[in-house]
Amino acid sequence: MCLFCKIVNKEIPANIVLENENFLAFHDINPKAPVHILAIPKLHVDSFNEVTGETMAKMTEFIQEIVKEVKIETSGYRVITNVGDNGGQEVKHLHFHILGGAKLKWGHF
Ligand code: 5GP
Ligand code: ZN
Repeated sequence: MCLFCKIVNKEIPANIVLENENFLAFHDINPKAPVHILAIPKLHVDSFNEVTGETMAKMTEFIQEIVKEVKIETSGYRVITNVGDNGGQEVKHLHFHILGGAKLKWGHF
């Protein structure tokens, strides 16, 4: 079972921000911004390559709830999903990084 599936199953602890039937959001263990949250589907999907439009429609609403919950909706934030080697994906369970709480830098190569 992958790392994030273990977090979904509460086999590994995580600092949870928001949860519903289908999705889970928790703080990144190694934050790259003052706010760094990971949003995942509870059912395992390898990456953005495999996710369905139906899941993405619900994920969009879930991420909108998260940014309201942690009050970064108006100050601004960034949503990223890394895919594969060039994208720098380390955990092979689809996740969206939600970064905020400071003016973020841009440009990574
Ligand atoms: P990726 O590089 O796959 O896009 O991002 C994986 C993210 O998961 C990284 O930002 C990393 O800090 C985070 N991460 C890795 N292991 C754990 C963990 O056990 N718990 C939490 N909360 N985050 C983790
Ligand atoms: Zn998984």
